[in-house]
Amino acid sequence: MNKAVKIAAEFSIPYYQYLNSESKVISPLPEFAKNFEYLKDLYKHMVLTRTFDTKAIALQRTGKLGTYASSLGQEAIPTGIGKALHPTDVFLTFYRGYGTQFLRGVTMEEIFLYWGGSEAGNNFKAESAKQDFPMCVPIGSQYLHAVGVATAFKLRHQKRAVLVTCGDGATSQGDVYEALNVAGAWNLPVVFIIENNQWAISVPREKQTAAKTLAQKGIAAGIASEQVDGNDVIAVQDRVAIALEKARNNLGPTVIEAITYRLSDHTTADDASRYRNKDIVGKSWQEEPVIRLRNYLFENKHWSESEEKEWQTACSEKVEKAVANYLNTPPEPKENMFNFHYGNMPKSLIAQRDKFL
Ligand SMILES: [Mg+2]
Repeated sequence: MNKAVKIAAEFSIPYYQYLNSESKVISPLPEFAKNFEYLKDLYKHMVLTRTFDTKAIALQRTGKLGTYASSLGQEAIPTGIGKALHPTDVFLTFYRGYGTQFLRGVTMEEIFLYWGGSEAGNNFKAESAKQDFPMCVPIGSQYLHAVGVATAFKLRHQKRAVLVTCGDGATSQGDVYEALNVAGAWNLPVVFIIENNQWAISVPREKQTAAKTLAQKGIAAGIASEQVDGNDVIAVQDRVAIALEKARNNLGPTVIEAITYRLSDHTTADDASRYRNKDIVGKSWQEEPVIRLRNYLFENKHWSESEEKEWQTACSEKVEKAVANYLNTPPEPKENMFNFHYGNMPKSLIAQRDKFL
């Protein structure tokens, strides 16, 4: 070996999984996951999220909702995040974070309203959700908002954490790199989740970047970074809770790449059958999070067919009630499309608004 060469830096990315795709426990469970009642609760929340999702797509297909981004197959990530967050933490999400939003107190009606074209859906009514940000549709810009919030917590010496999510495609955006960099440099109390569902619309993960993992992008910013099985809700909750506690105690940021698979189209405006291999999609259905936990509960006699049926019915009733409330919401006044862009509306916009009325 050339004696002039020394290794300047080395790194590794750990990968965490407790419940594998065959529903077998492969490493000692964290305390919360030894409680079957608690696991049932996680399972039920994932089923509720999926029921909501199925209905949202049906509403879009029948012209009652605008374009909608499904979280089918990705329910474990928002569920684990929502359970790990404390009420005083702040949550910033990209689209598909419904499972967390529901746990924070955002209502199904609000999500329907948002995708139905009303910003009223982003004005969360529940006190418990008011500190959270509206879902961010631009790709990656929420990472910058998150480091802004985290900087405020740091300056105020508050013991609070920020958690922000993005998809795999967003990791190619400058905003994401800049946010990671400042979080590392300023040791900010923030947890960055990369929800890697293998697709950025029709661009597959392998074309997105030459990096072996997306998590290692945090290494460049000096941030502890890891991967987690995003279809194992136990692993997600455990690792997110640890990262949040670290942030609250001023011990720095964390990047968690949660590996999952988008079982749906990108949105209802997409047709993934045009660019996806059916065999891979079929294999991914074997690894999805809901069946994985259901099988584990069934095998351990903590869930039954009748409980399943009962819960499915309860979820449908809850969703149908939200749909009725959404469809009965009167349309917003037309001028609202002008009213919330500026604190002081420019004259040119005032003129447009007045002409419109
Ligand atoms: Mg993606």
